[in-house]
Amino acid sequence: MTAVTAPAVRDGLHQWQQALRAQFPIITGHPELAYLDSAATAQKPRAVLDAVQTYLTTGNANSARGTYTWANRTTELVERTRERVSRFLGDDRPECSAVHFTSGATEGLRTIARDWLPGFLRDGDEIVVPDADHRANIEPWLEAQRLLAGAGVRVRVVPMPYQRSSGDYDHRALAERAGPRTRFVAATHVHHVYGGDMNVHRLRGAVGPDAVICLDAAQSVGHLPVSVAELDVDFVVFSGHKALALPGSGAVWARQERGPAFAPGGWSGTPNTVGIASLEAALDWLEAAGVERIERWTAGLAARLTDGLRRLEAYEVLGCPLSLAADSTVQRRQGIVTLRHRAVESGDLGFVLFSHGFMVRSDNHCQGDAGEKTGSVRVSLHVYNTVEEIDRLLSVLASLS
Ligand code: PLP
Repeated sequence: MTAVTAPAVRDGLHQWQQALRAQFPIITGHPELAYLDSAATAQKPRAVLDAVQTYLTTGNANSARGTYTWANRTTELVERTRERVSRFLGDDRPECSAVHFTSGATEGLRTIARDWLPGFLRDGDEIVVPDADHRANIEPWLEAQRLLAGAGVRVRVVPMPYQRSSGDYDHRALAERAGPRTRFVAATHVHHVYGGDMNVHRLRGAVGPDAVICLDAAQSVGHLPVSVAELDVDFVVFSGHKALALPGSGAVWARQERGPAFAPGGWSGTPNTVGIASLEAALDWLEAAGVERIERWTAGLAARLTDGLRRLEAYEVLGCPLSLAADSTVQRRQGIVTLRHRAVESGDLGFVLFSHGFMVRSDNHCQGDAGEKTGSVRVSLHVYNTVEEIDRLLSVLASLS
């Protein structure tokens, strides 16, 4: 396992990162603060703010409803952004897929559970639910199970197995648990607490060619390359606001090959055109910045933090305690590190860290019941974060040991 060392990060990407960081007004405007909560929501680059301003001052109208220029331009924006999402997700056969805009990952997952899943499942089918992942990727499936039970259709929920040592899915145990009636698998690309890449490319082998795989990519889109062609999944769901776009934007990408076509029901009304304009600009910005380099940068910072924490007795890292190198074939840690002080409660630790300028997330992180319950603090990174911020954080954490 070759570690992504901080010096390599610094030497190879330092200038690239400095130029990108300079494009985030909220970051450069507050040099005394370090924003370490990007898994909750990400900051926006100037290009996204400008795209919103341009749209609202030069072409704001409703989409698919008018015959004048602004309305037509808005319709084009919406259709163009659908294609943008498809391309961003590495879809090499967009004619076989659909993109549906949502207000975020939660609504995306609920829409699949409410409008698609009931028409797909039959009495006696099984669904795999990742019950140590984010609640947004658990509750919709349990709700669908309850709704179907009310209609006399019994669906069995199979808990996704996890490896205790790393927090990764246990793909071998999943293969043993999955049978011919396992027709739907909900999974997460990057775990929002453990920070691990969940090796979802192994799911298809574990569950067979016919099961539908639904991927919650809330913590991966914009952080690392996401390729639906390589992952062989059927749904990808993400939040725009975690991918540098405005809150209230997000999308479901649906492959449309296994099971009925995904066509959310009901009158959906006016789309969030401003959010869609921001999403197009965010995806353009991310692609120009280079998502692979963003991954190398944030994984490098996370490795530096995990390695530093291993020297501090007072702390433990949730999930895998190792830095998990970016080119590991075992598992990769992305830009999320969740730590616990053995004696200081997470809310108190968050409060103390903020007194030093660090904005982190404390509490149970909306994790499902199978997750670890005791309070911890999550540090989550994006391209604007720096080696200096990590080193400063480590020295403050050391002073609290
Ligand atoms: N899934 C994961 C893995 C998340 O981390 C989050 C939010 O933190 C969500 C889903 C829900 O996203 P949103 O609140 O944007 O709908």
